[in-house]
Amino acid sequence: MSFLLTCLSCNLPAAQVAAINKLQVAAARTNRVLSVPDFERTPDALTASVADAIAKGNSELDQIASQNLDHVTFENTVGALENLRAESSIVANRAALIAETHADSLMRAAGERARKKLQEWNVGLDYREDVFKVIKAFASKEPKLTGEDARLLAETLRDFRRAGMEMPPQEREQIKQLRSELSALAAEFESNLLAAKAPFVFTKAELDGVPEDFLSSPRIRRDNDRYQVMADAMWQYNIVEDCARNEATRKRLYVAHDSLAKEKNVPVINRMLALRNQIALKLGYKSWADYQAEVRMAKTAANAQAYIDNLVTGIHPKFEAELREFQKMKATDTGDPKAQINIWDWRYYTNQLNKLKFALDKEALRNFFPFEQTLDGMFFIFGRVFGLRFDQTEPPYKWADDLRLYVVSNADTGAPIGLLYLDMFPREGKTARGGEFEIVNGRRLPGDKYQAPAAAVVLDVPPPSGDNPSLLSHADVEILFHELGHALHCILTRAKYSRFAGTHVPIDFVEAPSQMLQNWIWDKRVLDTFAADYRDRSKKIPAEIIKKMNDARFATAGTFYRRQFAFAAADLALHEAHPSEEPYDCVAISNRIFERTFLPIDAQTSFISSFLGLNGYDAGYYGYAWADAIAADMATVFEKAKDGYLDKQAGMKLRQEIYEPGDSRDVNVSIEKFLGRKQSVQPFLKKIGIGSEDTK
Ligand SMILES: [Zn+2]
Repeated sequence: MSFLLTCLSCNLPAAQVAAINKLQVAAARTNRVLSVPDFERTPDALTASVADAIAKGNSELDQIASQNLDHVTFENTVGALENLRAESSIVANRAALIAETHADSLMRAAGERARKKLQEWNVGLDYREDVFKVIKAFASKEPKLTGEDARLLAETLRDFRRAGMEMPPQEREQIKQLRSELSALAAEFESNLLAAKAPFVFTKAELDGVPEDFLSSPRIRRDNDRYQVMADAMWQYNIVEDCARNEATRKRLYVAHDSLAKEKNVPVINRMLALRNQIALKLGYKSWADYQAEVRMAKTAANAQAYIDNLVTGIHPKFEAELREFQKMKATDTGDPKAQINIWDWRYYTNQLNKLKFALDKEALRNFFPFEQTLDGMFFIFGRVFGLRFDQTEPPYKWADDLRLYVVSNADTGAPIGLLYLDMFPREGKTARGGEFEIVNGRRLPGDKYQAPAAAVVLDVPPPSGDNPSLLSHADVEILFHELGHALHCILTRAKYSRFAGTHVPIDFVEAPSQMLQNWIWDKRVLDTFAADYRDRSKKIPAEIIKKMNDARFATAGTFYRRQFAFAAADLALHEAHPSEEPYDCVAISNRIFERTFLPIDAQTSFISSFLGLNGYDAGYYGYAWADAIAADMATVFEKAKDGYLDKQAGMKLRQEIYEPGDSRDVNVSIEKFLGRKQSVQPFLKKIGIGSEDTK
């Protein structure tokens, strides 16, 4: 039958072929094409796949370009371009997964090369003038398009315009030049940061309060009374900042950390900002922040700024109250009633407060989350809420022995919808620590068929050892729910085009549905459905522990979020309107905002020189808080429903209004349809301990 895939012609055990065949037949009854991803097994095979994909893509581009302008249609222009992008993205997706998870280092390297090559080819598509000409010829016919087709044409034209294709050739060339200079600087920024090392040697007295197992680890302990801590290694930095009683130690390490790569990166950043500004101005935008916001939910930089300003004000009372508590603790510690909380103090006092108020034994909680039961419990909950079934099947090909494959089906009809791979345990060379990877995106295929999506969730949870099961931390379970949310966003899509499928929504929205799902595992009713002591399954997590966990969860949220808002505000300020002839001083701009929004800093530092958000998420850092606020807003639909987080009606609404449409319509519309009202930041403020009940 035509829907069977070439991969099944490989030498597979007959039982596996039969199992997959059966599923494919079942899927075909609802016109779904359930493809099992055909993973390359050797570096050469991967290189060949990329070469094929590019050759095929180029020949299709040539075909689009060579058409008679009188005979252009939606299908042979915009549709064809979207189709070839979708096809090449499937190869790129496999390469990305191989690059980050394959057990063989040669395969990982080949995956990385393949990914890069396809990325470069993709950027080149923006500059195919001959293709753009044909698309424009179609647009000039003012076709009567609706829905996703209209959206696809508008966004395709927008991409070309944003690349500079509407400009006269000479200026377009300049923009292309500026973009390539910018990407070289971005690479330089990252390699400077990787090369930045900041070792510090402390005595034991200077590290008083830091846990013994950290100090005795061979990477830290040098000899009897010398301990080396690297300010550039986050895990080392955090533990010392969290635990060191000695303020001078915390400050020394903070100054080093917040000055990482200062000499090299400050000029690089100033140049990057100038280039971004030039590109934006040339393209007719007021600022780079506006250029970036255009394709995000925020739409304009002013909207993003107003949102952050609002949250900064909204959170102020809680932030102040937390600081007062920290201040009291520091006054007691130092004997100085006027002691001030500085930026090198907040982690330490947050940790002290948590220990003092909520003596929680996080390790003991693991007993309630044995891996297999947790996974079954999660599938049961999501099955019930979204009307789904998750059936394990044997993957025809495994890149790791413990890889699993699940078929996600509609619970009522049993019709398969898509595939879910789980790669859960650590192994040598696996760099992905937690994430969701799209492998195949849903899209309409010729003959009224639909491509069934496939996604993978990759985590790094403790493996079982001997007779002991794998026991997850509460944080692991939270990540699992979060990543499964992304996978379902991908798998449940009904978008007509791959471009709009599932998680291909604006980056300031994409985290929101998954962040919302994290709430599930803080709820007693949900936890009681699956969390139980593996040694005695009749033992659930005691109610008072769950209450304590919840109290601790937002106890210092004011401080946490004010810092997030400070990063967001600094990032927006760096990318706001700026006279093109005026040089940038990134340190002055960002330090000023950071100090104003968060805590007193040390003037010699330059946190911006190691701020990764500057590269790739530029003028977009606000998106983290933005998505958090939307997540809290959307969670109210469940909170008000009859069955709370287990409510099927609310779940089906989420499936139909958020997951299924993806980006095929404006996400603002989707959110408001799901909420049944306008959006509000009040639920977010209320969740973290402030604001009113009113969400109207
Ligand atoms: Zn996420």
